[in-house]
Amino acid sequence: MTELSKLILDRIRDVPDYPKPGVLFKDITPLLADHEAFSAVVEELARLCQGCDKVVGIEARGFILAAPVAFRAGAGFVPVRKKGKLPAETFEASYDLEYGSAVIEVHRDAFAPGDRVLIVDDVLATGGTARATIELVRGAGAEVVGAAVLMELAFLRGREKLDDVDLRSLVIV
Ligand code: AMP
Repeated sequence: MTELSKLILDRIRDVPDYPKPGVLFKDITPLLADHEAFSAVVEELARLCQGCDKVVGIEARGFILAAPVAFRAGAGFVPVRKKGKLPAETFEASYDLEYGSAVIEVHRDAFAPGDRVLIVDDVLATGGTARATIELVRGAGAEVVGAAVLMELAFLRGREKLDDVDLRSLVIV
């Protein structure tokens, strides 16, 4: 195990049955509260954005990671939000949830044509959110150069939905 993996794994708290029975929630707040671990994560993610123009953060915990990564990498930050939260004209993409579906949005003018984009989130589970975000970013005229998450839950096989992008997970459990 690398030093970074250990820093991360020691600071992600498992919360059983949150937000509903049967879900083991990965709580990243202990990691965010630790300067050494948070900064090591930001440095590592920023290295994945070499030469990229924008870092996209997925609401809500993706914002916390993507914004400092963008700043560190010298790129811009773009939020992808749940439907109804962005004030100006948007593009939208929908994806299936266990029960029903969800819609995410990005501002129509968030990207310049051909912008090179890194997508960042905290946890990759089924991959539905990341898949929809990739479609949204591409639909808005940008190029997805990669997707990066702090933690990948391998048993949910989200990676299989993302086989056309360079996916980096700082830890895989
Ligand atoms: P999915 O679309 O199934 O890959 O779910 C990924 C999104 O849901 C990410 O934005 C995560 O923040 C959140 N998420 C899903 N499962 C978990 C979990 N077990 N712990 C924390 N966040 C999760």
